Amino acid sequence: MIGVENPEQQDSATGLIPPIIQLDSLTFSWAAGREPLLDIESLDIQAGEKLFIEGPSGSGKSTLLNLLAGVLVPQQGEVRILEQGMTTTCSADRDRFRADHIGVIFQMFNLIPYLSIAENVTLPCRFSARKLNKTNERSGGPSQEASRLLSALNLADPELLRRPVTELSVGQQQRVAAARALIGAPDIVIADEPTSSLDAGHREAFIKLLFQECEQAGTTLVFVSHDGSLARFFDRSLALQTINRTRQPFEDMGVSAP
Ligand code: ADP
Ligand code: MG
Repeated sequence: MIGVENPEQQDSATGLIPPIIQLDSLTFSWAAGREPLLDIESLDIQAGEKLFIEGPSGSGKSTLLNLLAGVLVPQQGEVRILEQGMTTTCSADRDRFRADHIGVIFQMFNLIPYLSIAENVTLPCRFSARKLNKTNERSGGPSQEASRLLSALNLADPELLRRPVTELSVGQQQRVAAARALIGAPDIVIADEPTSSLDAGHREAFIKLLFQECEQAGTTLVFVSHDGSLARFFDRSLALQTINRTRQPFEDMGVSAP
């Protein structure tokens, strides 16, 4: 069982606040014995940072996000999230840790079709007492916090909220998915190409709303996309290929060679 009471605790020896996510000498391969897909010497992400990671389709962005969220563990090296090493933690504890500390916006949103919009948004509070308690502190409960988040994300229309999630537009589904990731003020929100099906105007508006909520909750944002034009909105941007030292051929990554 792992627990983090005060994620911003200073290191008593150095007086510095340690990074919220740290990758150290990481290699990851989907198939044993093959050249790794990812070979990253180090990556530190600071608490409260909004980090953009760019890379072409098939370059390993989603795989990297799964490592940053403790869904996958590397074959070599370490991933530390809130100073907890993931490689020595069993998968059930990593799942619990993720439920408490991380919110994820999936590329395809992964909304549950048989649940209402509000139920989709409050779902993480059923798996995490920590997130549930935070909604109590912030708004008086999960339903109230879901309403607050949906209206902050411009989805307040009661008529709209009665519709099944399957009848929402892509932009509306994406904001429901964002509200679900943000509920319970997680330490980290991970966003996997959440704007890929939006036009430029909606893309920018969505990013601004996401930033507002992350800033208010002190949430660290890690956002990946193949669209480098989004980098200008973020505190810091990285091209995956500049930190990934793999020698795996480009065409093996599922993209046609340029
Ligand atoms: P991106 O998100 O940048 O498009 P991915 O991380 O999804 O890239 O995929 C990178 C490579 O890893 C691709 O070659 C893909 O086929 C492979 N890959 C992704 N998921 C799996 C999996 N579950 N099993 C085996 N290979 C995978
Ligand atoms: Mg992907």
